[in-house]
Amino acid sequence: MRSINPRDYYHPQDQKALWELQQIPGFSAALKAFMKMFSENMIRGINMSNKVQIGPRQLPELYALLPPICEVLGIREPEFYLELDPAANAYTMGDSIISITVTSGLVDLMNEKQISAVLAHECGHIACRHVLYQTMASMLLSAGANILGGNLITSGLQLAFFHWQRCSEFSCDRAAAIYMDGSETVAQVMALLASGSREMAERLDMELYMRQAEEYRDFMDDSNWNKMLQYYALMSQNHPFLSVRALEIKEWCSSPVFKNIMDFKYEREPAKILEKNLCPACGKPVEGDWGFCRHCGNKLH
Ligand SMILES: [Zn+2]
Ligand SMILES: [Zn+2]
Repeated sequence: MRSINPRDYYHPQDQKALWELQQIPGFSAALKAFMKMFSENMIRGINMSNKVQIGPRQLPELYALLPPICEVLGIREPEFYLELDPAANAYTMGDSIISITVTSGLVDLMNEKQISAVLAHECGHIACRHVLYQTMASMLLSAGANILGGNLITSGLQLAFFHWQRCSEFSCDRAAAIYMDGSETVAQVMALLASGSREMAERLDMELYMRQAEEYRDFMDDSNWNKMLQYYALMSQNHPFLSVRALEIKEWCSSPVFKNIMDFKYEREPAKILEKNLCPACGKPVEGDWGFCRHCGNKLH
């Protein structure tokens, strides 16, 4: 199996939202202020005192899920923690020392496959280099904003951060789908997080759930969308737009891009179709029964 380059699955909306965020006046001042007070040792201290560190000898079954994901996504293994919290959640923080935390609520709610999908999503954040900004965002969007000095954080900046965070999820759902070989488990995870109950999620009709996402997407024109974003920013929800993400990942996994990435991952020959139907010399379409390209004369067989 080969490692996948994040460039191949980075979602264009993620890139655009990040660029927009960096253009907001005050962004660089806020970043500087954040870096000045940001302390990895502090995060590490909180992790070590409040959580259970997972490793080869502590909850080894849970730990075993992580290394193969790091291999496929081409990242260094992060620290891994379990937090006692009934709410199902997972998050990644840090800069040079990166840690993934899953809550006990998440582990109780999900089977191993689903936990793998969650971990692959979190590792996607590491591969896409989201984590520092994400750490900053979680502080900006929470009570911690006051620490940075209220006047540094404009609501425009907060909103741009919030928007980028949401868009960054699309890239990481793709990372999870690449690791899980398809969208099925990733979509299940969305349904689980939306319903909060394993029993309910098993009984859910996924087709209908996807249709609900389609309706939601049609209903959201740009102005509704912006109002919604502001509302969610206020509510600081952990998992908004789950149905939209489920639909988005299902559609991406049926695209030729995903198929090519899978072929590369398993070191399979890429689809022959392209080679067969395009002249290798001039790149124009050719028919299977042509001995020579009728555009440039190149010998085809
Ligand atoms: Zn995420
Ligand atoms: Zn040709």
